[in-house]
Parts: sequence; structure tokens; C-alpha cells
Amino acid sequence: MADERAGRIAEFIGPLRVKPGSKVDLGRDFDPRYKAGLKKREGAELLRTGVSLLAEYQQRLAAQSTYGVLLCLQALDAGGKDGTIRHVMSGVNPQGVRVSSFKVPSAEELDHDYLWRYAHRLPARGEIAIFNRSHYEEVLVVRVHPENLVRQQLPDPARGPGVWDRRYQEINNWERYLTDNGFKVVKIFLNLSKEEQRLRFMKRIDLPEKNWKFSAADVRERRWWDDYQQAFSEMLSATSTTWAPWYVVPADRKWFARICAAAVLGHTLMDIDPQYPDVGEQARNDLLAAKRELEQEAPAGAPADPYAARHPATARAAEGKDTPTGGGRASGAGRQEKRKRG
Ligand code: ATP
Ligand code: MG
Repeated sequence: MADERAGRIAEFIGPLRVKPGSKVDLGRDFDPRYKAGLKKREGAELLRTGVSLLAEYQQRLAAQSTYGVLLCLQALDAGGKDGTIRHVMSGVNPQGVRVSSFKVPSAEELDHDYLWRYAHRLPARGEIAIFNRSHYEEVLVVRVHPENLVRQQLPDPARGPGVWDRRYQEINNWERYLTDNGFKVVKIFLNLSKEEQRLRFMKRIDLPEKNWKFSAADVRERRWWDDYQQAFSEMLSATSTTWAPWYVVPADRKWFARICAAAVLGHTLMDIDPQYPDVGEQARNDLLAAKRELEQEAPAGAPADPYAARHPATARAAEGKDTPTGGGRASGAGRQEKRKRG
């Protein structure tokens, strides 16, 4: 990771990462109100920085088209998944991002294996896919309400004892397979406190413009709070792996959760460190030939190449006459200016 920002981001998200192999007790190990000593005012600036970093790296990811990223977002109701996606992805090119929300499975989905519908929504190379709820529902809501398992029409051995341990293993293996094939999987759990959930539900009831967000079913689901905490703890313990780690993001403060999510995704992209493709000798010669032709078409009095006049060092480097500041064609300076040109 060449970028110096990478170290700072890694340090920031370190406390959120679930150490592979550790045994998590959500209530004991993670504080939903943690904010790393930051103030909301400082948070706004940090988020802006994070969002522009994501835009920069997403563009490189798309240009290289070798890796893809899958971001899984899990949370209880009112945990802030939608707002997090909206804010964190606000700067990126929508063509490179695909958001899929997973609800109660349809009849067609239930007619397939439990990972089928998620596999259909995986990112292509160069893309970031966001799962708003994910395959982890298969060891969360399905576990807390086992009638969901009955609806999955599984053969007896597949729903007998050990079903959850087997699912953890299958999910780990699936994510390993994706990682080995160039698709990085990163997982965020928005960790909301029970009291903050209550307050957010109250707000949805009390403020008319928020009424549409309220669902009585969410309040009913809250009765299973402790079962969910237990299911989350076990899931985090069993499925945070070196290749696809979990991050537990404190979610009681929306502004802080958004910074964390941007940092986690940013860290993943920086780890991939995608590069603009080097076009190669022949293609470069073609570019230069096209350039000469375009220069000759400049109207009388107009500069032949106004871009080269403004950025002489980069233009010389593009013609193979010089090296841009910072070395190599794919250097930061070169990339910045290529981007502006595009
Ligand atoms: P929002 O409420 O913000 O629109 P949401 O993700 O809560 O977003 P809903 O339509 O309210 O969306 O709820 C989706 C429901 O689908 C959740 O209660 C979730 O537990 C349930 N669900 C998701 N996956 C499964 C699954 N595999 N089996 C059973 N239920 C599932
Ligand atoms: Mg809901």
C-alpha cells in the first residue's frame, strides 16, 4: 500500500475489526457509543475526505477491471444501513456501484440453495457491490426464527444438528473462493444499542415526515433483541476470517458510523491498490498519432493543445520524453491529471 493515508486508516479501523478466531461477546466487547474521541464537527470533514478517497479508488478499480469488492452491511432495524450507503457512496460513480437489498425470500428463491440469490448479485470485476442485508441473514433471522429454515425445504440432513456451524463453514468457504478469484469481501455490522433503537422508532412515530419509515413489525422483532445479540456474537466469532473480516461499527451516532464505513471500504480499496492500466507501446504510438491529427485541426489562433500548455511535465511524460513528478506513468500526479482530462 503505497498511499500514506493507508496507515492512518488502518489505525482508525483497527479497534473495530473482529480478530479472526476470537470469541466475541457483543455486549462486552463493543460499545455502540464509541467515537474514537472525535467531535461531530471534525467528523464532517473526515467524511468528506473519506468520500473523495473512495471516488478516487473506485475509478481506479473500474479502470483496472481485475478486482471486485463486495461490501456486506448488516444491522438490526433502524441501524442506519440506508443512510450509511447514501452518505458513504455519495461521491462515487453510480455506474460502478450496485446496491442489492435482501428481504424475505421469494418462492423462487426458496426453491434454490440458500446462497443462490446472493450469488446472483455479486459484483463484476471493477465493480463495488453493496449488500443491504446479506447472506448473513441465513444465520441471523433464519436462526432466531427457525420457521424460516422449514420454509427452505431442506432435506433432513441439511437442517439437522450442526446446521449453523455448517453454514458458517460454507459461508467462509464461499467467501474464500470469491477472494481467491479477485473479489474482496468486507463485512460491516452496524452495532446499535437497544435504547438508541427505541429512540429512533419513537422519532419515526412522532415526526410525520418519518412515519413512512415506521413498521410495527420492527417493534415486534425487537422482542427478540437478546436472541439477535447472541446470534450476532456467534456469527462474528465464526465468520471473521483473515480473507473476509468483520468490522463492528458503533452505530449510535450516525455521523461516526458513516466515517467508519467509509474508512473500512477505503481500507479495502487501498489494500487492492488498483492501477490504471498501462496502455503499452503500440497503443501509446496510436495515441500520439491521434494527438498530432487533433493538433492540426486546431482553429486559427487557438492553441494546438491547451492541456499540454497547462501541464507541460505530464504532457512530456505522456510522449515518453520525460518522467512525471513522483516517477512512473501510474504515479499519483499522472493519475490526477489524467482524471481531470477525462
Ligand atoms: P428498511 O426497513 O430500511 O426498508 P429492511 O432491510 O429492514 O430495510 P424490510 O423490508 O423492512 O427491509 O425487511 C426485510 C426483512 O426481510 C427483514 O425483517 C429481514 O429479517 C428479512 N429477511 C432477510 N433475509 C431473510 C431470509 N433469508 N429469510 C427470512 N427473512 C429474511
Ligand atoms: Mg425494515
